[in-house]
Amino acid sequence: MAEDFPFEISPMFEGERIRKNDMYVELAGPKSVGFELVRASEMDNVEDGKFTLIGPDISEMEEGGRYPFAMIYKIAGELVEEDLESIVERRNHDFQNYVQGLMHLNQRYDVWVRISKEAVGKGMTSFESIAKAIMMLFKNELPFIEKVEAIYITDKDEIEKRLDEAKEIYKSRDDRTRNLHDEDVDTFYGCTLCQSFAPSNVCVITPDRVSLCGAINWFDGRAAAKVDPEGPQFAIPKGDVIDDMSGEYTGVNEIAKTLSSGEYDRIKLHSFFEYPHTSCGCFEVVGFYIPEVDGIGWVDRDFPGTAPNGLPFSTMAGQTGGGKQVVGFLGIGINYFRSPKFIQADGGWNRVVWMPKNLKDRVISDIPADIVDKIATEEDVSDLESLKTFLNEKNHPVVDRWESEEEEIIEEVAEKTTATTMPQMQSTMPMNFPTMPQMTGEGGGVKIILKNAKVSVDKIIIKKND
Ligand code: SF4
Repeated sequence: MAEDFPFEISPMFEGERIRKNDMYVELAGPKSVGFELVRASEMDNVEDGKFTLIGPDISEMEEGGRYPFAMIYKIAGELVEEDLESIVERRNHDFQNYVQGLMHLNQRYDVWVRISKEAVGKGMTSFESIAKAIMMLFKNELPFIEKVEAIYITDKDEIEKRLDEAKEIYKSRDDRTRNLHDEDVDTFYGCTLCQSFAPSNVCVITPDRVSLCGAINWFDGRAAAKVDPEGPQFAIPKGDVIDDMSGEYTGVNEIAKTLSSGEYDRIKLHSFFEYPHTSCGCFEVVGFYIPEVDGIGWVDRDFPGTAPNGLPFSTMAGQTGGGKQVVGFLGIGINYFRSPKFIQADGGWNRVVWMPKNLKDRVISDIPADIVDKIATEEDVSDLESLKTFLNEKNHPVVDRWESEEEEIIEEVAEKTTATTMPQMQSTMPMNFPTMPQMTGEGGGVKIILKNAKVSVDKIIIKKND
């Protein structure tokens, strides 16, 4: 299959990481600019197999350099329709990673590519060979594509000129699901592409929940399942509603059990804490619980700093990914912020306390007006103390939770003390959170969680439980 190319092509190279010291060039990524885009075109407008490069080729790039990079593919075929563009675009990620010595991360205008020194040494000196390999894979693996043409761009001005248009296209795709909701359909869609590196990941795409990578919405899933029902995107019959608020459905639970090989049997689509959606690693944003304020922060890939908990995106993404249900962390696609069901089981926007400024600005029109100024950014706070002060000053809704938790703790302590039993104090915050401060007594079973507590007791008698 790969004899015409100066590199090997195989799914076994997915997951290959190219470290800085091993890289010949870096393309696009967080410190540069770029995008990937697939456009459905008329048959007459696509010259099958044609490749165009605008800007310098690999052989003209300096070793160790960083360059802008855009990839545009025009596809045509009798079954090709606009709804398939996102699906094909997502496969560019897969197929680029099939190429030995090439690492492709993320999607849309967050793409980030590295080419290894070793690959260049073996002859990967032109983008043409890469583009031809990807076009071959598109046609082999996605038979509805009858013709494909590639345009790669490394000229910064040209990329910037075309980036706004690409963003408009992404936006119009995202906007399509605005007036459609989970209750309006009887079928959701699943995707298994990320199971190659996160085997227990169960990606469920609904009208109110875009995929974690942000690249596939409900319409895209439907179009893909229609043209290739045996492919990585497939229909999930919704089944019965178990709980509307948290988004739990019998059909989703059944598929969760099957896809995760029994590791999970429940997924609540709009819950942060209880049976949350699994997180593969492709998510655009990671949410993290901040026990100190009983709120949730969100950080995206582009944010270079640390969140108020002192952690950068990469550390929290490492903790969240792998296809697990990690209570206290949640990976999402940016468009999920626009969903009317956004973590509604856990308070929705009223539970959000921090976001990077750029991310907040991107979704600002979807944040309810009464909360928008109460969500801190890195411009308002730098650590947990200043976050707490900010939330207090703004009278953020989570502040009410602190007060009620305080009262509950005092009441519980009073009750237990009167009964002269072991004090067991717990707040209304989610249980079993991995980083929640807790003290476990000998013999197990004692959990003491004190948050902003003022506790005064005259006497505590601790007795051994016989
Ligand atoms: S995040 Fe989900 S929808 Fe996106 S490629 Fe991975 S499995 Fe598919």
